[in-house]
Amino acid sequence: MTHHSSRGQAPEPPTPLPLPVVDNHTHLDIGRDGGAPPDVAEAIAAARAVGVDRLVQIGCDLAGARFTAEMIDQYAALLGGVAIHPNEAPRHAAAGDLESAWAEIEALAAHPRIRVIGETGLDYFRTGPEGVAAQQDSFRWHIDLAKRTGKALQIHDRDSHEDVLRILAEEGAPEKTVLHCFSGDVPMARECVERGYYLSFSGTVTFKNARTLRDALAVTPLDRLLVETDAPYLTPVPYRGSGNAPYLIPITVRAMAGTLTVDVPTLCRALSDNSEAVYGPW
Ligand SMILES: [Zn+2]
Repeated sequence: MTHHSSRGQAPEPPTPLPLPVVDNHTHLDIGRDGGAPPDVAEAIAAARAVGVDRLVQIGCDLAGARFTAEMIDQYAALLGGVAIHPNEAPRHAAAGDLESAWAEIEALAAHPRIRVIGETGLDYFRTGPEGVAAQQDSFRWHIDLAKRTGKALQIHDRDSHEDVLRILAEEGAPEKTVLHCFSGDVPMARECVERGYYLSFSGTVTFKNARTLRDALAVTPLDRLLVETDAPYLTPVPYRGSGNAPYLIPITVRAMAGTLTVDVPTLCRALSDNSEAVYGPW
């Protein structure tokens, strides 16, 4: 697909938000369906134009982590996160280089604008039982790194709720722990809130079959909420056939405000304040 035609198909920008918010989790190094990644300056400008003035760029393999460390030096709108993704950990373990991959992540994490260790966690959907041991080892290592460095932890949890909560309890969670793209139900949301974790909601809250998720959102207090795109994935309704991008977050924020029955400015203020509480100032 040429740049021109992909731009032609991109969704129209939504109405700008009344107050600025943060995209807590985006992948500017990844193109949709294996295509070219977005132009970083354009993606940041398009987001800013609708009120998304700060972003957390997440690099979740070694190439992505190196990219993230470069971009945070170039763009003041970006803070960064680095990790070996749970679907990457078994590949590194099989190749015998998981420990050297961790060492590079730790070195990159020393950058003062890398404020997140993540995304780490467990994925029992895309990786089979043969990968569980490596995923759990790697998750435990990243939890420890977040605590040693004082950075926030962002967790990827796909079909692995029980083990994620168990391992966090066993290791002791870092002070700032975020469940990225939260996918649990009401009891899990309550458990996370009780433990002091933050819940980051994505475009999945707009999906028609996501009633359980909206119920979980509805019981989450404003001071525990974050919002993210996980772009280029998880495009909100009605644009699910298109690639996601940070400028589409207003759609998700308005849907969240509806579920929470709060006004949009109140939610924006909470999302912005919570982000700075977790990651520090931009
Ligand atoms: Zn992600």
